[in-house]
Amino acid sequence: MRAITSHATPATGLRGIGDTSWHTHGVCHGMDPEDADATFFPLPRDHEAIAEAKALCGQCPVKRHCLNYALENVLKEGVWGGLTEAERRPWHDGLPQRLDYNRVIAFFNGRDVHLTAKERKVVIDHAYARGWRADRLAVALRVSQEHARDLLTQAAHKVFHRDLTLGVPPRRKKKRKRPEPAASQPATGRPVQEQPISRPVPSPSAHAPLGKAA
Ligand code: SF4
Repeated sequence: MRAITSHATPATGLRGIGDTSWHTHGVCHGMDPEDADATFFPLPRDHEAIAEAKALCGQCPVKRHCLNYALENVLKEGVWGGLTEAERRPWHDGLPQRLDYNRVIAFFNGRDVHLTAKERKVVIDHAYARGWRADRLAVALRVSQEHARDLLTQAAHKVFHRDLTLGVPPRRKKKRKRPEPAASQPATGRPVQEQPISRPVPSPSAHAPLGKAA
């Protein structure tokens, strides 16, 4: 297939933009490049070639990855994932609003997922709900800390207004636990005053001069 570079890395479930490791598992993988071009980039009215491409894609185990790749990389020509360019057009147009919770979960599991605008909003809300700090969100979304802080603040406002509308009592910040007083300290928390160490009183016999033992 044209415009795809492939390598031998095993295909992953969800992946980041630019990852083409799935293609090694595609039905079209290994085809002669000219044949692949003729099959998957047919003329708009070449129904025979289109049907052939769709038949191959229909039995392809990485059809979904292939379609996602075309959508995320704005590849508007050719047959990808079994859909022609005309069939993919509504998907291209609606891509920013696509919300796939599997991808959101994968993001929180540390996968490099190319989030849509809607998925990104959900991620920010969940990050706020999970108590993420700005530096952590900044790394995950690859934005500056200032921007991450603004995003978390916006999420906090959103939750506050939603709770206000629904009549949910405002959330209280968790109080930090004070360390338990040590067992040797009284309940007041004051340290125990050190008691003077009592020394043994020497018995008179210990100092009795030799030869005068009783
Ligand atoms: S879905 Fe079609 S174009 Fe995509 S990898 Fe599979 S066979 Fe090739």
